[in-house]
Amino acid sequence: MAMCEASDLNRLPIFRFHPNAYDLDIFEVLDGVCEACEMPRAMRYKSSFYAMEDVEYICPWCIADGTAARVFDGEFSDAAGIEAIPEGTSFSVEVYEAESLEVATCTPSYVSWQQEEWRSHCGRPCAFLGDIGANDLPQYLTEPDFAADVNGGLGWDPASILNDLERGGDFAGYLFRCLSCGAHRLHVDAC
Ligand SMILES: [Zn+2]
Ligand SMILES: [Zn+2]
Repeated sequence: MAMCEASDLNRLPIFRFHPNAYDLDIFEVLDGVCEACEMPRAMRYKSSFYAMEDVEYICPWCIADGTAARVFDGEFSDAAGIEAIPEGTSFSVEVYEAESLEVATCTPSYVSWQQEEWRSHCGRPCAFLGDIGANDLPQYLTEPDFAADVNGGLGWDPASILNDLERGGDFAGYLFRCLSCGAHRLHVDAC
């Protein structure tokens, strides 16, 4: 089953659910041999990968085409951490499940304190954009679903989020964007 894009070794693969992956300190330039494709590579993935084996070197191509997940029977993000679609929403279960599998097995994770969670919107997983802090919030607060995330929807005190959220800090925010409608969503995590 071809879940993911085929690899193109002439350029780095693009992750539609993680479009800023190469800007977010989850890959490092390091010569080595990828343990999934056994090819000499110059870029190593350094964020989380959940598998029975300890895997030290995974190249971006083996993430994108699903090779690493298949070879090591692993996941980059826990599929159970992908937000379910609210009841009463009409959506395609097939699309949601296929895209959730793409997030879990063909998409890099992101760096967080606890186990990563992945927001959803319009019946599908969102794209993860990066870290977000209190100063970044106002531009998104006019969006009802983002405002709902801030105003208690995530179980955190809204005043704490609005005042104390810090990019990469002990009380950290993570920004997601819907691939269908462009709406933004928030995830908050504390160490
Ligand atoms: Zn590889
Ligand atoms: Zn949407």
